[in-house]
Amino acid sequence: MPCRDVRQVVAAVREGRADAGCLPIENSLFGSVTATYDLLHEAFGDGALHLSDEILLPVFHALLAMPGTELSEVRRVLSHPVALGQCRIWLESHLPQAELVSEWDTAGSAEIVARRGRRDQAAVAPLGAGGTYGLTALAERIEDDPSNQTRFLTFTREPALAAPAGEAPVRRKTSLLLWLPHKPGMLAAALQAFASRGINLTSLQSRPERTAPWTYRFYVDVEGAPDEPRLAEAMEATEALVTKVVVLGSYREWNDGTAPSAAPTPPPAHHRPRPDFPLYDRRQRPEGTTVVVGGVVVGGDRPVLIAGPCSVEGEEMLLEAAESVAASGADMLRGGAYKPRTSPYDFQGLGVRGLKFLAEARERTGLPVVTEVLSWEEVPVVARYADVLQIGARNMQNFALLRAAGRSGKPILLKRGGGATIEEWLNAAEYILADGNEQVILCERGIRTFERATRHTLDLNGVALVRERSHLPVIVDPSHAAGIRSIVTPLALAGLAAGAHGVLVEVHPNPEVALSDGAQSLDLAGFAALARTVRGG
Ligand code: PEP
Ligand code: MN
Repeated sequence: MPCRDVRQVVAAVREGRADAGCLPIENSLFGSVTATYDLLHEAFGDGALHLSDEILLPVFHALLAMPGTELSEVRRVLSHPVALGQCRIWLESHLPQAELVSEWDTAGSAEIVARRGRRDQAAVAPLGAGGTYGLTALAERIEDDPSNQTRFLTFTREPALAAPAGEAPVRRKTSLLLWLPHKPGMLAAALQAFASRGINLTSLQSRPERTAPWTYRFYVDVEGAPDEPRLAEAMEATEALVTKVVVLGSYREWNDGTAPSAAPTPPPAHHRPRPDFPLYDRRQRPEGTTVVVGGVVVGGDRPVLIAGPCSVEGEEMLLEAAESVAASGADMLRGGAYKPRTSPYDFQGLGVRGLKFLAEARERTGLPVVTEVLSWEEVPVVARYADVLQIGARNMQNFALLRAAGRSGKPILLKRGGGATIEEWLNAAEYILADGNEQVILCERGIRTFERATRHTLDLNGVALVRERSHLPVIVDPSHAAGIRSIVTPLALAGLAAGAHGVLVEVHPNPEVALSDGAQSLDLAGFAALARTVRGG
């Protein structure tokens, strides 16, 4: 049915003159189709129309003119403004002087050129329109990029029927419209409601609020359907924050049929049946799990040695430590770029600069890097540089962090909390496993007891028992357990004797001047001696 603009398409379906409609929403070269965005609230905000499918169509353009026309004769080019925008580069280089004239649609502009019969006019339109209106192509495939495509949304008056039971679940997307209070951080907070639950954001557009200058409404597309638990929870959280939220609709994600679509994200663990045994339980995998990091096997027969400074204090000291521990036989490099410090006045780590130094040290030595992440928001940046994400003792029950670590796809080194029972520690690991990440290394680093002579007490019971109860690899960190350099090596050896698959130790080129944990850090020679003892050299 001919429609001059998107508004008419919506009206035709609303008034029952058409069964379904299709609106262009975004072009890969041109960007948002703003006329459609500005219509979405009015069209779908009252629930009378239902979005059903997303469609991606490749778009090819030709320059069509009356037969016999030479390119040099063309003075005016007619088309839909979005189509003209998609051919900007070609038009600027081949017809720099031509006037570009906006029409309602591409095929319609071909019709106008044919009707007028003038050789100084041409249309940007699909090649097929040339045949329809008796025009010839002066040039084909004139779009700025061969990947050019447009995303459409289809809709009907009737809601789509649920897929029959037993059919493969389809992936859905949901479009939301948000109005936000004009306060710092509101957009970030609204989007974090999705990010913290691992919901992928596929599009974010803002459009001006036309009657209130310099205020905006935000269009957010996310993966999932509103009845899926993750999205339902996120929307509840968003609603509580924003001025208003309107669900414009949910629709099937585009799939051209050439590949099976990826499975939807599984619901969170508390919406799934409880497994017969916890995922960490030895009975799940009696042979034990190995976590392989850049060729280093954690959980095998050979004990792994992870060494490096407590904090990355600077480039030079890190490289010196890294090169020395590598030469002494370390398997991985440790070093904190984000430091959880007891006092807010203490050195807090170099942050991203520290991560970059760690990556440089890996380049130089070939050692994979273990470094701590303190909050779920920082998982992406730490995961970009680190080979293993360390979750520290203070964060062992930071559940948002555990979940984000689960989704990160990176190996996780999970330290035991200083006041955590073995059961709490294993349940913390369960959070990571339940989010689909099997690469968990447990690390006993000392618990708080009545004893004050040492910083903590290395719980060897815990090491031996966890080896028995869980299939996950376990290592010991004697440095934080002891707090005293002189007893680090004997505790490391005791940990290995109790069944640990490896040792994580703090090593500093000059422990006397360390910015954190100097008293428990081995010097370079001290680590070399430990490595020789462990390796039996
Ligand atoms: C660390 O490894 O430097 C650290 C802070 O450890 P923990 O979380 O065990 O205290
Ligand atoms: Mn430390």
